[in-house]
Formats: sequence, structure tokens, C-alpha cells
Amino acid sequence: MTTPPPSGSDDVLPAVANLDTIVSLSKRRGFVFPSSEIYGGINAVWDYGPLGVELKNNVKRAWWRAMVQDRTDIVGLDAGILMHPQVWVTSGHVGSFSDPLVECGTCRRRYRLDELPGAEELTATDLLDATVVERFGLSCPNDGGPLSAPRRFNLMFQTHMGPVQDEGSIVYFRPETAQGSYVNFKNVQQSSRKKVPFGIAQIGKSFRNEISPGNFVFRMREFEQMEMQYFVRPGDPAAAAFEEWLPRRRAWYEAYGVTPARLRTREHRPDELAHYAKKAVDVEYRFPFGWKELEGVHNRGDFDLSRHAEASGENLEYFDPATEEHFVPWIVETAAGADRAAFTFLIDAYREEEVRGEKRVVLGLHPELAPYKVAVLPLLKKRPEIVELCHRLRTDLARDVMAVYDDSAAIGKLYRRQDEIGTPWCVTVDVDSLEDGAVTVRDRDSMTQERISIAGVKRAILDRMEAARP
Ligand code: ATP
Repeated sequence: MTTPPPSGSDDVLPAVANLDTIVSLSKRRGFVFPSSEIYGGINAVWDYGPLGVELKNNVKRAWWRAMVQDRTDIVGLDAGILMHPQVWVTSGHVGSFSDPLVECGTCRRRYRLDELPGAEELTATDLLDATVVERFGLSCPNDGGPLSAPRRFNLMFQTHMGPVQDEGSIVYFRPETAQGSYVNFKNVQQSSRKKVPFGIAQIGKSFRNEISPGNFVFRMREFEQMEMQYFVRPGDPAAAAFEEWLPRRRAWYEAYGVTPARLRTREHRPDELAHYAKKAVDVEYRFPFGWKELEGVHNRGDFDLSRHAEASGENLEYFDPATEEHFVPWIVETAAGADRAAFTFLIDAYREEEVRGEKRVVLGLHPELAPYKVAVLPLLKKRPEIVELCHRLRTDLARDVMAVYDDSAAIGKLYRRQDEIGTPWCVTVDVDSLEDGAVTVRDRDSMTQERISIAGVKRAILDRMEAARP
């Protein structure tokens, strides 16, 4: 027996060797489609199909449960995508939310400098240096052509608000949800009467005009974030909160089924840190295209509230009634992507097995994330009593969980189809069911079958869901 490579090492293999396996499964089964496909598509925007929207909603629900519902110290918020343009000046996004862009002199392709092969070790200073391309001998990965010196490219999308399109009417599509939580700090704190430490959680769309989007839904121009801002006493308490949040966030992915060896954490080097950050650590996943960020945990110090207080003239200090102190809270942020998380769960759940000489594709998704929890299948669709019983069962199950009926193939094929989309349980109604009032419940992972009375099926499914809950 060979020993597996150490957890988190470069030798850890991805769950699928080739990303195309996931892209084609997604298209074929209705998880993700290219946006505006009949017009040739639009780069870096993807649409979620019937199964994808269920999966992503389940991911968001699982995050909300862990971050808001289960906690007494975190509350939710849903701020607008469009905000006062001054927010983005104050936050530093107008001035410096940019990536270094280089362009090939022959094929005209554009790249993010820090993502070019051979640019892995570039420092923040290198990324701004006009001579960096020469110094590191970088060339176009497409045709080997000469690359331009880097220039900063701002990633924010702009539009105009109101009927006049001039400089004064520019507004931005938010590139992160976090700023909505900062500018609402007082509103939320006062209305919910939360005491520091407390957090504000948000899920919502963000937009970035990425230079080199790609790898399917990994990097998109329109995507959804799941971010939580935790307001803490300055200094040591903030550092301590950071050390609690990092393992907690990593554990969340594991609790929903991500293979622990395919997760690791990576601390930002001092030169990589954003100017305001005290500390930043990424939770990374071993994607088929390498180790990449899944989520970032950041200690942002007092930068955000201090800057917004100064620029708006509003006092954003917190008054601690216990110590009678006024202070500007520090912020520990957990910043995840809903699309990236759903993508990770999808990849990590994929497996191919051989069962009785045949290939079986299974998505071993956690039951809470699976698009359908249960499929109700007739063994004989020609018998109206069987079909009718199936529909009654499905309707009853659907009051509590996503349940689907399918009679479009023979039972073996129906099972395989449900395996491939991750449905944890199939309920089969056969001729005997009409006599003995029982059905067969088949488990996706073990493929074992159990006879359960019709009256007890729903309870059995709900009990299994409950038992699987982290
Ligand atoms: P990168 O360095 O990869 O551009 P980032 O460090 O700028 O990412 P953050 O600003 O910390 O990313 O965003 C928080 C999270 O939002 C990321 O960990 C990721 O899950 C998600 N995210 C960011 N940009 C995108 C994108 N273009 N497409 C999909 N998800 C994204």
C-alpha cells in the first residue's frame, strides 16, 4: 500500500483530474450553463440551472445557519448593490482596487501579471515595476510574444444613476459586500442592541471586472459572496477572534464533506497584505488547476470604521457600558464566495466507481447540500395505482424537502441518474407496495435497500437528514 501524500502538500491529487468532467456534467444535468449561450455566451458570467440553483441555495443556507442562526452574536444584513459613490473612495477601491495588467504585443491577449507562469514569487513592488517583464524574462503564454510593462487596471464596474450621464452621476457595482456592513455598523448595533464582540453577516452579489477570469465558476465577473464582519475590541481581542474564526471556517467546509487533505491555510506574506490588514490567511482548496483561495480571513484593524467616520463625519465609535470606554472596534472578516464554495463541494463530491462491471458516477454531496433529497420512482409505470401512489408520496415529502418524481427509464438507469446528481435517497414503489403498504428506500452511498412502511417513509428521510446535520 502506498502512503498518501501529506495533507495540504503539492502532491495531493484533486478530486477530479480534469475540470471538463465537472463542466460537462454541470451542463448536461443542469447545474451551470454559460450565460447568454444562444448569442455565443458572455465571458465570465454563468447561469445556474435547476439543480445548480438548489445546490447554491443550500450552500448559502448552510452558511447562514452556521454564521447567523446558530449564533447569538451575529445578525444578518442585506445592503444594496449600489451605494453612495463616496463609500468606494473612502474604502480605497476607487484609488487602488486594481490588478496589474500586461498585454501581448503580437496576439493582444491580456493577462494578470501575478497569474503568469513564472510570476509566482513576484512581490508587491515587482508588480508595479516597469522593468518586471524583462527582469523575470516573462512572455505571452499563448504565443511567446513580448509583454507590455504592467499598468494598473481598476476592477470596479461603473454605471450612471439618473438621467444625466456625466462624471457626477457615476455609481459603482459593489466589488464586495463588506462595505454595506461597515456603513450600517451603527444602524445594526443600535437596532439589535448587540454588544461588542458581535458580527454582521451578508450574502449577496458582487461584481469585478476581472482581467483573467476563468476556470469555470472559480473566477467570474458577477458572483455571490458570503461575508461576515466581526466587530471586536482593539488589539489582542481582535487577534484572538482571528485565531478562532480561521479554524472554524475551515471546519465548516469539512463538516459539509470537503476532504480535509484537500484543504490548507496560507498566510499572506507581509508584502502581499493589503495596506490596512494586520493579518490575512486564506483557506485554500486543491482544485484541478492547483491550490487556490476558497475563503479569506482577515484582521482589518480599525481601518474601515475609522476611515468611514472621518470621511462621513459620523462618529462610529462604540461605547462599552461595562468599562465606560469609547473605542473604534477592529474588524475580523471572513470572506467566502458562494459560487466558489458550491463549486468546491461539487468537485470534491465527484467520484467514479465500478459496480458489477459498470461505471457508476456518484456525487457524494452532503444531504443538506444535495439538490434533491429524495427521488420517488415507480418500478412499473404502466400500473396507474403505482404511479398514483408515487405522486402522493412525492407531494407529501415535498412539504418538507425537495423531492422529485421520475419514470422516464428502467429502475437501474433511474438510480444511476439520481446518483450522478447526488440524490441521497430513492424511494421505489413496486407491485408489492400496493399489498403490503411498504416501499424500498435505497441509499446513494451504500446502495443498500430497506423496506419501510409508506406511513413511515417521510419520518425516516427526515431522521436521516437530521442525523447527517453537522
Ligand atoms: P483573488 O486574489 O483570487 O482575486 P481576493 O483575495 O480578491 O481574490 P476577496 O476579495 O478576499 O478575494 O474575496 C472573498 C471571496 O470572494 C474569495 O475568497 C472568493 O471565494 C470570492 N471571490 C472573489 N472574487 C471572485 C470572483 N471573481 N469569482 C468568484 N468568486 C470570487
